Amino acid sequence: MTLTGNLLIGQRAVPGSRDAIRAIDPASNQALEPAYAGGTAEHVAQACALAWAAFDAYRETSLEQRAHFLDTIASQIEALGDTLIDRVVAESGLPKARIQGERGRTCGQLRTFARVVRSGEWLDVRVDNAQPTRQPLPRADLRQRQVALGPVAVFGASNFPLAFSVAGGDTASALAAGCPVVVKAHGAHPGTSELVGQAVARAVQLCDLPEGVFSLLYGAGREVGMALVRDPRIKAVGFTGSRSGGIALCQAAQARPEPIPVYAEMSSINPVFLFDAALQARGEALTQGFVASLTQGAGQFCTNPGLVIARQGPALQRFIANASEQVRQAAAQTMLTPGIADAYQAGVGALADNTNAEVAASGQPQHGPNQCQAQLFVTNAVAFLSDPALQAEVFGAASLVVACDSDEQVRQVAEHLEGQLTATLHLDDGDIERARELVPTLERKAGRILVNGWPTGVEVCDAMVHGGPFPATSDARSTSVGTAAILRFLRPVCYQDFPDALLPVALQHGNPLQLRRLLDGQREA
Ligand code: NAP
Repeated sequence: MTLTGNLLIGQRAVPGSRDAIRAIDPASNQALEPAYAGGTAEHVAQACALAWAAFDAYRETSLEQRAHFLDTIASQIEALGDTLIDRVVAESGLPKARIQGERGRTCGQLRTFARVVRSGEWLDVRVDNAQPTRQPLPRADLRQRQVALGPVAVFGASNFPLAFSVAGGDTASALAAGCPVVVKAHGAHPGTSELVGQAVARAVQLCDLPEGVFSLLYGAGREVGMALVRDPRIKAVGFTGSRSGGIALCQAAQARPEPIPVYAEMSSINPVFLFDAALQARGEALTQGFVASLTQGAGQFCTNPGLVIARQGPALQRFIANASEQVRQAAAQTMLTPGIADAYQAGVGALADNTNAEVAASGQPQHGPNQCQAQLFVTNAVAFLSDPALQAEVFGAASLVVACDSDEQVRQVAEHLEGQLTATLHLDDGDIERARELVPTLERKAGRILVNGWPTGVEVCDAMVHGGPFPATSDARSTSVGTAAILRFLRPVCYQDFPDALLPVALQHGNPLQLRRLLDGQREA
């Protein structure tokens, strides 16, 4: 498989004409071939025109045809073999085993959405049969299904080159909903993006779909990204990245003559609450679990535990001492990009200089470029409550322990938090009542609340919520991981008094798709 450095506009490989992006191996700072010349607003317009032309046909493909397409993308990605794995490792600095696992997750996600599509449950068919003799007024025949929103712009994430990039969760859920996708590749991994983009384009061809179902663009300097969000044929955006980037895209989407939803996953510090009985009974295990979660993948997970909250006392002091010891032993790890490594240095530098926090421990020194040295900081509740800088996300293996004098301070700290992807409770039986008091606050703050686990490691399943109030995401009503992610790209349409021959097949009187409908107020078996 040869890398060409070209944009993929439908089935056409097109050279860009703006400044080139070149991937950098963060482990060596070596630039990788080839160069990816950036796209222009004209390229964006071409991709969006094709996506729009494909939309009506693609959204009415049969459930089986669309599911087969998703399965085919997964097979095509697997067929790339080690060529893909080696390129991702070179572009991301992530270990091979992690990337193999991420490929499994990516293909698993695609196949999971194929299952979702086949089931037809997402159509959420509701039928209220006509009641022509109803008094005082007859009722019309009313039928509702979900339809695709329209072409979706997806911004690949730096920290998941496969699972949240070209054929990742946003793309899989949008394609499952019936939306064509135009991807803006992340500049950190253009070669990975091209390999996966070619696999998706091959699947489009093998499944005999309109070419505009998928396009892939590159570009630095914001021209491509902004043109995509502003294009009138784009009807929704999926994004994972920085808070500032997500907000900029939301503002651009809202400023359009026709505003559109942006599903941006941005910033979360994922508080972990350690309750007294748990800390006393198993402080050592908690320390090990915490440091492993904190340092996994150089901390470059949106669910990284960046905040620990507990009541002051000997058990917390032991936890801090033991965690500090383990952080000191943690080896420095290569980060995804020089930019992310610089942002991490700036973030931990700001905390180290902040008189409201103290450095408890620093990990092993760097032995190569772009490395993350783990950091643990401590503060108290009064300082935390007075200083908004202490809850800024530091993307990487850094965490802050907040020591509280009372249950009331723990509650105040919880109440003071911004929106989060996750909140974690470590508790034993003796802590249940104190935890119960905190849960209503955490339900207002987070999309996922876990007990006696660690927030890193997000299961792709039906019940998962990877979302949360701002700034965790721009729309707390949604999830970007798990099968409910498809709901972001759908909207309901009601058909009133349609003759059967004109109804979409999912709504026809004989229920040819054998869907479990909500029929006159009763869910069908
Ligand atoms: P980023 O800077 O937000 O970039 C992500 C994508 O959005 C890129 O394609 C970028 O385009 C585009 N973009 C960003 N700002 C934009 C704007 N104002 N207008 C148009 N497009 C824009 O994220 P990143 O490169 O992945 O990492 C930077 C920082 O984001 C990290 O240090 C970390 O703090 C945070 N981050 C957080 C998470 C999380 O899950 N919480 C994940 C990844 C990163 P360009 O390439 O043209 O800039």
